[in-house]
Amino acid sequence: MEAINTKQVQEMLIYVADKIIEQKSYLTEIDSKIGDGDHGIGMAGGMKKVKNKLEGQSFDNVYAVFETAGKAMMMSMGGASGIIFGSLYLAGAKGMTAQTTLVPVKMAELFRKSLTAIKERGKAQVGDKTMVDALEPAVIAMEANADQGILTMLKYAEEAAQKGVIETKQYVAKYGRAKSLMERAIGYQDPGATSVWLIVKSMREYIENAYQL
Ligand code: ADP
Ligand code: MG
Repeated sequence: MEAINTKQVQEMLIYVADKIIEQKSYLTEIDSKIGDGDHGIGMAGGMKKVKNKLEGQSFDNVYAVFETAGKAMMMSMGGASGIIFGSLYLAGAKGMTAQTTLVPVKMAELFRKSLTAIKERGKAQVGDKTMVDALEPAVIAMEANADQGILTMLKYAEEAAQKGVIETKQYVAKYGRAKSLMERAIGYQDPGATSVWLIVKSMREYIENAYQL
């Protein structure tokens, strides 16, 4: 599959939202080890808003779907993670020339722009035990495999994100609530990185399911 249309992008982000909502307690449990235990609540709440916003509308531009979803998260989640995860969809979609289809190379570009914005804003680099540890390798994998179609690209991105999540276990946190734990955070995976992995995994699942139709 070389490209997905606007309706598929919309369905994909609704599918992602459903999957994150399903993982609410898993994400909260992870955050309760090294944070304040609200990550699943925040993500599920934001994703419910995404569903509300996306379900009642039709779109004629793939980037408008991402923008709408990102804004819904930003406005409903609040706090640092609202800005960070809202930006994951919104920052990359902003300023893109309207299109009725999304090709793999443009999807990679979107997430690269989001990564750049998140790093500029939050200052985290790979190794700081944040969602950047999953997002950056995922974006690199997207860029490297965009010429192989959307499903293959997302398979590599998912694998890279998951590896990134595992790597967060060995890190001390430089940002967020886990920072105060210092080396006591070692051994625990980062909740935000886990969410990024689940988002990429869910996008891959949606595309794989769409492929089989
Ligand atoms: P809060 O920290 O306000 O309780 P959440 O629990 O929802 O918010 O989200 C925590 C996640 O936010 C962390 O696991 C981490 O991945 C991410 N995060 C925190 N600070 C930053 C930052 N500066 N840059 C990128 N991601 C960050
Ligand atoms: Mg938290």
